[in-house]
Amino acid sequence: MATSAQITLPNGVTYEQPIGLFINNEFVPSSDGEMIETINPSTEEVITKVHVASVEDIDTAVNAARKAFDEVWKDYSIDEIAKLLQKLADLFERDRDLLSAIESADSGKPRSQNSVLDVDQCIENFRYYAGWADKRGGTICESSPTKLGYVIHEPHGVCGQIIPWNYPLCMASWKIGPAIATGNVIVMKLAENTPLSMLYVGKLVVEAGFPPGVINLVAGHGKIAGNAISCHPKVDKVAFTGSTAVGKTVMAVAAQTLKNVTLECGGKSPMVVFDDADLEQSVKWGYEGIMYNMGQSCSATSRILVQDTIYDKYIEELVKYTKSYSALGDVYDDNNNHGPLISKVQFDKVLGYIESGKEQGAKVALGGTAPFEKGYYVEPTIFTDVTDEMKIWKEEIFGPVVCISKFSTEKEALDRANDTTYGLGSAIFSKDIAKCLRVSRNLHAGSVWVNSSNDTSPRIPFGGFKMSGIGTELGQYGLDNYTIKKAVHINIGNNL
Ligand code: NAD
Ligand code: MN
Repeated sequence: MATSAQITLPNGVTYEQPIGLFINNEFVPSSDGEMIETINPSTEEVITKVHVASVEDIDTAVNAARKAFDEVWKDYSIDEIAKLLQKLADLFERDRDLLSAIESADSGKPRSQNSVLDVDQCIENFRYYAGWADKRGGTICESSPTKLGYVIHEPHGVCGQIIPWNYPLCMASWKIGPAIATGNVIVMKLAENTPLSMLYVGKLVVEAGFPPGVINLVAGHGKIAGNAISCHPKVDKVAFTGSTAVGKTVMAVAAQTLKNVTLECGGKSPMVVFDDADLEQSVKWGYEGIMYNMGQSCSATSRILVQDTIYDKYIEELVKYTKSYSALGDVYDDNNNHGPLISKVQFDKVLGYIESGKEQGAKVALGGTAPFEKGYYVEPTIFTDVTDEMKIWKEEIFGPVVCISKFSTEKEALDRANDTTYGLGSAIFSKDIAKCLRVSRNLHAGSVWVNSSNDTSPRIPFGGFKMSGIGTELGQYGLDNYTIKKAVHINIGNNL
């Protein structure tokens, strides 16, 4: 059975796309022959079919990873590990255009500012974590004059990593970087809708020189392959990014074998705009914070609370900015910055939320429709006069839909911003530094953006409060989830 396909991308580039399961540095067919189609959401056409991992294939991948860990990787030189991550970054740099073009076809990301930036962020992540690889340390502690202890930060071993479709390359790099830098091996399940870019990366893993079995990448169904990873007794840790509902399932299943679990789940992040804010900046970030990646970001600032004194003006300016700035259309045309949603499922779901907003009495200030015959495009949509009981205010829409509501006092803004089961991101706009610091302190979210929205950096931790997740990714803190601390006690005295 073929494990590679020749693909011509919409920009005319033809290349060899791996379509097998990447296990032990080889692309292999699935054990039961099952394949799934992956679709270009701009055209609704099938790009190709890829093999999907069965429960048996996950077992094969986990055993390959375990063997690589026990026989090769656990004693690998830390200098070499750092070099491998640097080399992977070099190869991403070399293939930047192709990777971004693949991502645009498979996910519908506009190339101009989205898929290219995704690749660049991967390069930054790999280089950042390469810098940590040779700094794995421990601590020494003297417990008494005759007893000495030291602590080894040991890798867990086999890490199961389950990633979503909204940032296929970035989410993979957020997980590969710290796991590899700390000496773990990986079995990663790619999202059903977007397997292509990371399967291509399988080729780069081989070229970079990673030993077989250290990084395994498979396409697969969540309920089959994802579940098989979460419950496999030889998987030592699971890291998941996706919806809160599935995150709970992963955690429950992983509890059977008491795996270390980290979850990065959904959000309904607030942005609070005070009347002393720089209006132009708050409008620009108001747009960017939700419309980037067509609203398909877990930390998108999808609820904007605007102080009553500037409410009408803010809406007028946001509508004006959105009309002039957003450009829907062919994602390979650099003039466009707004592509389709990932799938028919998301398209229907988002249009359903728009209908519910209208039914529950919110006003559509802009957008609200699907403008094209072909492709899962939804216009940037601005709802105003949204109240706290409305579904569109409460639930994660994961589309280009922003809800705006009015507040009068700082206390009201904080209470309503925090009145959600989620706690991933939050933003505040004001020129008053004391107010910014006070509100930042009181927002219940893993990230607070002051006069900005949705910034991430490999150097700065990212993670959710409440039902947005468990554990931290990125930065030095991101390493912590990937090591287990072993204490060694040494008796340096002569007595019992
Ligand atoms: P999802 O949570 O179903 O999928 C995320 C990943 O988990 C995929 O790889 C999927 O195959 C896998 N998965 C699904 N069921 C599983 C199971 N039982 N066990 C193990 N793995 C499983 O997300 P989705 O269906 O792709 O999107 C639905 C919603 O999730 C979106 O509308 C959005 O709200 C949210 N979402 C959030 C993020 C994020 O970054 N936080 C990313 C994508 C989607
Ligand atoms: Mn696709």
